[in-house]
Order: sequence, then C-alpha cells, then structure tokens
Amino acid sequence: MIELVDALDHVLSRMPVQPPVDVALADALGLVVVDDVVATELVPGWDNAALDGFAVRAADVSDPGSVLDVVTTIAAGDPGDTPIGAGQAARIMTGAPIPPGADAIAMVEITEPVDGGVQVLVRRAVDRGAGVRRAGDDVSPGDVVVTAGTTLGIGHLGLLGSIGTSTVRVRRRMRVGVLSTGDELVEGGGPLQRGQVHDSNRLALLAACGASGFEAVDLGLVRDDEDSIEAAIRSGVADCDALLTSGGVSMGDFDFVKAVLARIGDMRWMQIAIKPAKPFAFGLVDGAPVFGLPGNPVSSLVSFELLARPALLAASGRSAIQRRRVSATVEHDLRRRVDGKVHFVRVALRQDVELGFLARSAGAQGSHQMTGLAQADGLAVLADGDGVAAGTPVEVILLDG
Ligand code: AMP
Ligand code: MG
Repeated sequence: MIELVDALDHVLSRMPVQPPVDVALADALGLVVVDDVVATELVPGWDNAALDGFAVRAADVSDPGSVLDVVTTIAAGDPGDTPIGAGQAARIMTGAPIPPGADAIAMVEITEPVDGGVQVLVRRAVDRGAGVRRAGDDVSPGDVVVTAGTTLGIGHLGLLGSIGTSTVRVRRRMRVGVLSTGDELVEGGGPLQRGQVHDSNRLALLAACGASGFEAVDLGLVRDDEDSIEAAIRSGVADCDALLTSGGVSMGDFDFVKAVLARIGDMRWMQIAIKPAKPFAFGLVDGAPVFGLPGNPVSSLVSFELLARPALLAASGRSAIQRRRVSATVEHDLRRRVDGKVHFVRVALRQDVELGFLARSAGAQGSHQMTGLAQADGLAVLADGDGVAAGTPVEVILLDG
C-alpha cells in the first residue's frame, strides 16, 4: 500500500495543464485567468450622483431652507451637460452624471418641492462633494484589476463586466468524461432482476464534476467486455480532457477495465492506504489522464474527492486544489481498527458559537452505503489507530468547501 500523498503527488506530476483560450465572461466562472487584466477605462466613468435628489452648488445651500430654481432633470443614462448656475439645481437620479457647476447632491429626503416643483427648498446645508461618486474612484486606466492565476469568482466577473471586458483569456474548462462499467448495472429506474444494481456512480460523479466547475460528459454504461470497454475509453479520451471510470479496477475475475487500461494506457495501479477507496488506477491513454476509480459507490466518490478532483483542478491551472479543512470536536467516540490505513469517516457537522464545529457520524460507514455519505458535510480524517474519543478534536475535510 502507498500513502495518499504519494499517490496524489504521482498523479499531479503527470497531469497535463489545460491550454489557454479566450472565453466569454459569462462562461468564465471558476476558470483560471492566464494574463493580468488591465483596465483601460475609468470606473465610474464620470462624477455621478450616489443617490436620488438635487444636484446643487454647496455654496447656495449653506443656509438651511435655501430655495433654488430647478432647471433640468437628469436621469441615469442622460449626458447631464446642462450647466447649473448660482441659485439653480437639477433634479438628479442615482448614477446620473453631475452637471457642470454643481458640486453636491441634496438627497431627496431633505428637500421639498416649491411651486409645483419649479423650485426646490433644501432643508439642511449640504457639504461640497456630498452624494458625489468621483470618476475613477473604483478603477483607473492601467489598474491591474485581476492578476494572472486568479480563479474567477462571481465578484471578479462583475468587476470585469464593469470595465467593459467581454472575453477573458483563461485555462480551458476541463471536459471530464464519466463512464460506468459492470454487467450488473442498470440504467435508470425500474424493477431490478436479482443480482442487478442501479447505476448510481455515474450520476454522482457527473454531479461532482459539475459542482467542481468541470464540464461533465456522460459516456454511458459499458458492459464487462474488453472490446466495449476499449472502444468506450478510446472515444472518451478523444472527446474529453480527462476520463473517470468506476468499477472494474480491483481483483475480481471480471475487472476488465484494469486489463484494458493495462494494454492501451500508460497506467499505474495503486493500493492506497486509505479506507474507503483503496484501489485506484491512474495513467494516460493517448495523452489524456484516466482515473480508474473503484466501483463501490462511496469509494468512487471519496476517490474522486481525494485524488481526481485536486488533480483536475491542478490541470485547470488552480494553485489551491484542496478542500478547506476544519478542526471539529467529535460528539461521540469514533472507533476504528488498526489496519495501516487512514480512515475517512463521513460526518455531519454543526457549528456552535462557543464550541466551534462539532462532528458526529453521518450514518452507515460501509463503502457501499450511500446513506451516510448523503448526510455528510465532511470526511473526518482518522489516522491509523483505534479512533478518537468523544470531546477530542479531529480534522474534517469539508465536502462543499
Ligand atoms: P467492481 O469494482 O466493479 O468490482 O465493483 C465493486 C462494487 O461496486 C460492486 O458491488 C458493484 O456492483 C458496485 N458498482 C460498480 N459500479 C457501480 C455503479 N456505477 N453504480 C453503483 N454501484 C456500482
Ligand atoms: Mg464491476
């Protein structure tokens, strides 16, 4: 058996990195920026009103109760270029340009219309600059607004939109193909014949890929037959940047994925000192990375979490490839046996203001038992030994972190 870190290091050392492409901003969430993005515009583009009210000359309203002539109305989008002279004001909406001559906004709440709105009474004095958002107070030309290597989040997209960016150069989104293998597997619902199993791994792995920001490609269900498996893998790697298979990589008589990959790929078979998800295969087929995940449903997802996901993120250009981890106090004993492996226990977490994170078993822990994983917020990391006692801190990998 090899250690998890060594298995991951091996995988990372062989992962090709995605090429740069220009994509529309709307398609760039979660992708890694290749070049610094430099602003060429001021944001805001001109001095504008921070609130609805009246654009005034502060000197005209230094006495409470001043009355001004309303000479124009400026909506957001108007050029607002009518000058405001002494004793004059413009009705103005949030975001509209400050007209020449005005230097403050009297918010609508401190004003009253006079003579049906021909004039306005300003109840309180207004300081120069009050209610004015200055041109360029967010971004100026030449500013690096997003640096190379940044993973684009929602805020970055809004920022890039605000400087008029329409496309951005990023590492191409990974297209990850997902394939199920096994004669016992049945697509979709409906009653099962004795011995059959609903194919659940593909559904879960496709969802896991999508949730991690990859483009998930459903490559279907393949029988335990060498020719079919070979054909599916070859067309999968031709169409995708990486492939996930589940099942057929352990020691059984019908584990043909293993046989096929050994023949057509440059693979390494691993027994990793973890539970669940001990068997794992990784290698390249026609240059594309292929992850041979175990078949047991919990194992396939834990294997994805611990090995495939970080590797696919690294290939996407990410430097932070690991889930967030927290320290949680276990609420009851989490017992285990000494077996030379690190155990990943599915736990539910709650957060207490004083005690921090509290962890308890999320349910059944068998590698075939999805009920526990379905309830889990994280995987508690239990080093080899006899487990942890109630009240002890344990490290938990957050599954949505
Ligand atoms: P294998 O690694 O192919 O021997 O499969 C190990 C276990 O995982 C067996 O009980 C399989 O029926 C089950 N299994 C394999 N693939 C899937 C799948 N796609 N969905 C649900 N269970 C599966
Ligand atoms: Mg099988």
